[in-house]
Amino acid sequence: MFQKILVANRGEIALRVICACKELGIATVAVYSEADRNALHVRFADEAVCIGPARSSESYLNIPQVISAAEITNVDAIHPGYGFLSENANFAKVCEASEITFIGPKPEVIEMMGEKDRARREMKAAGLATIPGSDGVVEGEEQLAKEAQRIGFPLILKAAAGGGGRGMRMVRTKEELLAAYQTARSEAQQAFGTPDVYMEKYLRHPRHIEFQVLGDQHGKVIHLGERECTIQRRHQKLIEETPSPAMDAKRRKEIGAKVVKALEFIGYTNAGTIEFLMDDDGAMYFIEMNTRIQVEHPVTEIVSGVDLVKAQIRLAAGEKIAEAAGEMQFTGHAIECRINAEDPDTFVPSAGRITTFQAPGGTGVRVDSAAYSDAVIPPYYDSLVAKLIVKGRDRGEALARMRRALEMFVIEGIKTSIPMHLRILSDPDFAAGKFDTHFIERYLNSNGK
Ligand code: ADP
Repeated sequence: MFQKILVANRGEIALRVICACKELGIATVAVYSEADRNALHVRFADEAVCIGPARSSESYLNIPQVISAAEITNVDAIHPGYGFLSENANFAKVCEASEITFIGPKPEVIEMMGEKDRARREMKAAGLATIPGSDGVVEGEEQLAKEAQRIGFPLILKAAAGGGGRGMRMVRTKEELLAAYQTARSEAQQAFGTPDVYMEKYLRHPRHIEFQVLGDQHGKVIHLGERECTIQRRHQKLIEETPSPAMDAKRRKEIGAKVVKALEFIGYTNAGTIEFLMDDDGAMYFIEMNTRIQVEHPVTEIVSGVDLVKAQIRLAAGEKIAEAAGEMQFTGHAIECRINAEDPDTFVPSAGRITTFQAPGGTGVRVDSAAYSDAVIPPYYDSLVAKLIVKGRDRGEALARMRRALEMFVIEGIKTSIPMHLRILSDPDFAAGKFDTHFIERYLNSNGK
């Protein structure tokens, strides 16, 4: 097992990794930017190294700085968290070259899944259904017209190197196609450094359902069930839960078996998530894979009893799945609300000083957060302030618990999305589990907002 791990991240996920290390008896090194001097991950790590100015390109994304911090503190592994360098195959390679274990899958697999058009092809070849679309990057106007004719409208253009809900453009008609293609290419170039885009049929009322997996270095992969992540705004998840109201045991078993088979086929190691869209008729199509821990991992931990971050560390150290994950016991229903520092009506980010931070507690409540009273939310990073996660014996109990926990969450000094979550939770369709990815848009429109 590792002696010391560097956590190449900030905020709640850096703290989450530190918790796992403490429980495993592993020493920790935090890295931080100048804006994060007073951050909790710095306080709770055994050592901390400042890696540069506030801007993430100069600190949390700066590979030479992160590697130097790892070398001077003599760590044997790096946990990348999510975002930042977590899906950067080059970073994983540099770690390997520096003889530091990267806690995640192999660089080749990160690379394969990072090219979304290639991931589609590989997963199709490995037995997962994909949404009808171009078999790779759309190379030029001729192919564009031909593929669009074959796939039909509406369709969606996606940046091959995209992620985080960015780089997607829906096209309703033939007339819009060429201009949309040109805009999509230049946006992809700007955001991701390559203009490559591919094409998929646009599903009108899908649900987003994903499967959590773990793979060991001995060829075995398991899945830990699904997460329902349909409640999104601008393709960004806001509420996640498990089990999904749209799945049953038979379906879970059937899709889960396919996921495991596909990932064993490519030799997947460590934690990962296979994302699907579910169409009106219940068909499930692979859209992408995330080769890292997800923001929404706690809901799976809560119903399965598996500590996913500890499992990641143990798998990276070479343990077999059975040891790394321990026994799984699926019980109850878990829901997570992402509480962001933003105006609940306009969604404009609301950085600044938190004057009061009082998290709820009680039976079945978990709060993953790096916030505290008097902490400053810097404007440079994402707006996540806290993840509020609850467990109930069933969905009804979990919903009631989430409502009361949101009401008892006091965050003052900045605006947060708590009021929005409370509105969603009081919606009859949400309560009935009847929703698609357009739920928030429709909901906000119907409220005149
Ligand atoms: P990212 O990598 O940016 O997260 P994804 O490919 O995972 O992008 O898609 C994010 C979200 O965009 C999905 O959850 C869904 O809401 C929407 N989306 C993606 N592809 C389609 C599609 N073919 N039809 C309809 N909606 C889609």
